[in-house]
Amino acid sequence: MSKAQNVLVIGGGVAGLAVAIGLHNKGVKVEVVEKDASWSVYHVGIIVQANFIRALEQLGVGKAAVAAGYPYKGARFKNVAGQVIAELPGDSQVDGLPSDLGLTRPALHEVLTSKVKQLGIPVRLGVSFDSFTDTGSGVDVTFSDGTSGSYDLMIGCDGNYSAVRKVLWPEAAPKYTGQAVWRYNVPRPADLEWSDIYVGIDNGFKGKAGYCPLTPEEMYIFAVIEEPGKPRFAPETLADEMRKRLAGYGGTMAEAARHVTDPALVVYRPLEACIMPDPWYKGRVVLIGDAAHSATPHLGQGAAMAVEDAVVLAEELADKDVDAALRAFMDRRFERAKLVGTSSIQLGEWEMHPETAGDPVALTQRIREKLAEPV
Ligand SMILES: Cc1cc2nc3c(=O)[nH]c(=O)nc-3n(C[C@H](O)[C@H](O)[C@H](O)COP(=O)(O)OP(=O)(O)OC[C@H]3O[C@@H](n4cnc5c(N)ncnc54)[C@H](O)[C@@H]3O)c2cc1C
Repeated sequence: MSKAQNVLVIGGGVAGLAVAIGLHNKGVKVEVVEKDASWSVYHVGIIVQANFIRALEQLGVGKAAVAAGYPYKGARFKNVAGQVIAELPGDSQVDGLPSDLGLTRPALHEVLTSKVKQLGIPVRLGVSFDSFTDTGSGVDVTFSDGTSGSYDLMIGCDGNYSAVRKVLWPEAAPKYTGQAVWRYNVPRPADLEWSDIYVGIDNGFKGKAGYCPLTPEEMYIFAVIEEPGKPRFAPETLADEMRKRLAGYGGTMAEAARHVTDPALVVYRPLEACIMPDPWYKGRVVLIGDAAHSATPHLGQGAAMAVEDAVVLAEELADKDVDAALRAFMDRRFERAKLVGTSSIQLGEWEMHPETAGDPVALTQRIREKLAEPV
């Protein structure tokens, strides 16, 4: 038994870059392969909360993320007309840093990729694994560029449709939850300091809509809508379809919806979730981030869970031999990530079945308090 000294990360997204930084900081040799040669991300926003900023700060990039985004006061629930019905102000976890932050996805990507480059962590773009063999004390990997390598541990950070997961857990697959999200960036009203969520719409589409500041100039709108049968839409109709789902809202949303005009800038994503049972590892291969527990966006916690996984895995691997580290990692991560995943899915269920719904504000508040606890 020995500690991991040479680790391969599959996937250069939020989890992969975060765990690469965390391992490098602990003195572990790490390399990343990312299948997307252009290493690109969606242009829309990402909403994060205090536990995300705390975890990023543990990696040394919390302040950079805050500087790249727009801190705001917290989440507000509004009725369809735009009147505030509940406020959940954020509760900062790091002295001097805010709790709730909106930032564009490219801005977050830039923060993480800059750090990885600054640290000199090798990243091969346009490359994935072709196959891997667990040798008992490590993993032998062949890559799509014809090269091969041997590692003490391979970390699957390849997202919701993980190829690593498909090899080791072929029975696991993300399932459609019945809802989809429509997203679009629009100008931010100068006085907007909250993320607002409008509930209770009756415009022929069942769901909710909201927005979140991203920069001093920009915010993004999200509409979470029941979409029976997981429909596909012709690309040129996406802006019209999104505006239909935003019809009838008052307040700031009414004005924001008017800016949804370019179908090429609409990001429409059916929601598919997959929460893996404990353990997320087999032998010398472990999954983290969406590959292990993809949730719906109802709690805005996907990125935070990915970065928390990364911080905890790096800590445990630095301290213990590989088998003990993976078990300790699961003990610290499983219940927390499962709670976020199942609660997110629960919130979506309540939106689709309001007749049996509980109190979404109370559940959101309870989870926020839970996530403020140390990991
Ligand atoms: C449009 C959108 C909006 C979102 N908004 C929010 C939000 O507001 N707040 C929030 O917390 N979360 C949000 N999420 C979820 C959040 O982005 C994810 O939870 C988070 O990115 C998970 O990180 P990850 O590294 O596990 O996966 P990803 O960030 O998806 O990264 C996976 C990486 O692996 C690469 N990859 C895939 N397959 C392979 C392979 N075979 N070999 C090598 N590389 C591979 C991909 O190209 C990608 O770079 C959103 C997601 C989407 C799609």
